[in-house]
Amino acid sequence: MRDNFPIFSHHPELIYLDSAATTHKPQSVIDALSRFYAEDYATVHRTAYRASLRATEQYNSAREAARRFLHAAHGEEIVFTRGTTDAINLVAASYGRMHLKEGDEILISEMEHHSNIVPWQMLAQHTGAILRIIPMDEKGVLLWEGMMSAKTCIVAIAHIANVTGTINPIAEIAKAAHAHGAVLVVDGAQGAPHAPVDVQALDCDFYAFSAHKCYGPTGIGILYGKKQLLEQMPPIQGGGDMVDQVFFEKTSYQEPPLRFEAGTPLIASAIGLKRALEWIEDIGRESISVHEGMLLQYATERLVEIPHLRILGRAPSKGPIITFHIEGVHPLDLATLLDVRHIALRSGHLCAQPLLRKFGLQTASRVSFGIYNTRDEVDQFIQVLQDVIPIVLQ
Ligand SMILES: *Cc1c(COP(=O)(O)O)cnc(C)c1O
Repeated sequence: MRDNFPIFSHHPELIYLDSAATTHKPQSVIDALSRFYAEDYATVHRTAYRASLRATEQYNSAREAARRFLHAAHGEEIVFTRGTTDAINLVAASYGRMHLKEGDEILISEMEHHSNIVPWQMLAQHTGAILRIIPMDEKGVLLWEGMMSAKTCIVAIAHIANVTGTINPIAEIAKAAHAHGAVLVVDGAQGAPHAPVDVQALDCDFYAFSAHKCYGPTGIGILYGKKQLLEQMPPIQGGGDMVDQVFFEKTSYQEPPLRFEAGTPLIASAIGLKRALEWIEDIGRESISVHEGMLLQYATERLVEIPHLRILGRAPSKGPIITFHIEGVHPLDLATLLDVRHIALRSGHLCAQPLLRKFGLQTASRVSFGIYNTRDEVDQFIQVLQDVIPIVLQ
């Protein structure tokens, strides 16, 4: 598997344990991007010449690949965005501003990434809605039952949390949200790369993810939205491509998804995304989660043996993410020393300051796994960790 990723032939010593931040790219994704730029490059939608028609065909087939990947019912339910952050902001600014009024409630959780907190905070400030926070227990299991009421309008939850690794029961939460007349927005940035996703089975209303965490290019992501919801939603950006008829007095818009895709689209990125999603499906998302689950379990077993090391998030159902803190060790010092030994792991606030505060910390360390990681790398990581801890202990 490692041989599929050219980064490791350029850096054979690299042990990359930061896939939750972004994943490396397989050769076939890099090839798809460079082939498009070198051989097939043209704009889409607007023109009659053949190169453009071919590019349009490829671009449209990327939407179809994303539909298949999420098992959405209709291609019109797939909106290309810049990524997860952009997708959540689109739902907040369009659906949120249209539906929320003073006193309505937006429900998020304690374990959310800043991208699934700040857009809702901005929406609450804009509309007078109230932001409520679902707590979790000390293991990182969401205590969501009983949190919804008739006032709840939007529930926004991570499929898999980026610090605790918790896999949340999205289908159950969706059912409860609908029973209270609310919609469920799923932050799938960690869900899409690590678990099979079926938006119809989950019955979520929106699902957002980023290509760059799924072995695809940066700068593109997907917002899935149920057709009947997207159809009611106003665009939040105006410009070319999203319009039907433009007069100085009045403009009519395209149907979704084009209504939400103003400007020249992310053509090459979409083609790269398509290749990445097909590549994942060729390997099989079940086999990916089995492999990553093995790494998660093994690394957890090895880490708990280390004195004064606390794992943040021990939920029974977890994605391949382990955040930890070692008493007396500053995460930044640790990451710097590990980097010298060619181990890349994440340190800092992990884009979840409220959650780290709950754990009584400002910063922590995180290892996360992807398709290319091995058991042997876990052994090397643990060995190096044991070697450097005495050096960084304060
Ligand atoms: C990475 C991440 C995001 C943000 O994704 P971007 O690609 O930076 O937009 C949001 N939520 C979670 C859980 C993440 O891990």
